[in-house]
Amino acid sequence: MLDRFNRKIHYLRISVTDRCNLRCHYCMPENDPCLLRHEDILRFEEIQQVVAVAVPLGIDKIRLTGGEPLVRKDIVELVSMISEVPGVKDIAMTTNGVLLDRFAHDLARAGLKRVNISLDTVDARKFRTITRGGELQKVFDGIRAAKGAGLHPVKINCVVKEGPEESEAKAVQAYGRKEGLEVRFIPRMDLGTGHFGVVSGGTGGDCSQCNRLRLTSDGKVKPCLFSDLAYDIRSLGIQRAMEMALGAKPEKGTVNKQNLFHNIGG
Ligand code: SAM
Ligand code: SF4
Repeated sequence: MLDRFNRKIHYLRISVTDRCNLRCHYCMPENDPCLLRHEDILRFEEIQQVVAVAVPLGIDKIRLTGGEPLVRKDIVELVSMISEVPGVKDIAMTTNGVLLDRFAHDLARAGLKRVNISLDTVDARKFRTITRGGELQKVFDGIRAAKGAGLHPVKINCVVKEGPEESEAKAVQAYGRKEGLEVRFIPRMDLGTGHFGVVSGGTGGDCSQCNRLRLTSDGKVKPCLFSDLAYDIRSLGIQRAMEMALGAKPEKGTVNKQNLFHNIGG
């Protein structure tokens, strides 16, 4: 499907939960993250239905994100349900990697093609600080498991404050080179002030090249990360919500005062 600015929209990012087993300081408040009520979170059947409606409209690429997608109960089952929808060419996941060691093989068997793993530092102490308590070794174990399961290519998402030249980023780049992983640097963004930038080595952040819609874990189709526009599939119906989001997709992102990264999915 083409939007008003002739961009081909074929990519749907689905946030499957707003919950997370880490608390990265740029993404989620430490206490009281204002989580959604369980009954507001989309059931697997609803997510599968969204995909089934989206594919004939032109979506062929799905990414599962969150929150942390691997804390969603029975996530492997969801991957198989999505891969059963005819016309889905690519299913990917963005994860912090902490639980990948446990799930990588089952996810691959269920139809997941590849993963992006978030890693901002290869220093265990700094990792604990950034994530407010995370254990770096678990991410390394997850990366190894993803490679072993053939979730290829494994890409690393590294959030940077200044740019790829800062020392943490350089160390992540060196680790990536050693392990044969592609590293993408994501400038730290602020939804509320509209501060965003282009992802180096990736596709995000360049509005003229944007090819995506988003689905929040409580069923809102969002045309843009940096926008308050949202169309509720439960009240509008899936097809109408998707068409309205497509029709309203802004040329450029501005601000999003409704969401934080953990409840829209970065
Ligand atoms: N929990 C998973 C993870 O961390 O990969 C998936 C969800 S997370 C919200 C998706 C991506 O958004 C991660 O790569 C994360 O680094 C990025 N992200 C979160 N907050 C961000 C911010 N303020 N600026 C830029 N990227 C951010
Ligand atoms: Fe959790 Fe990912 Fe946000 Fe970190 S970036 S708090 S791992 S959702």
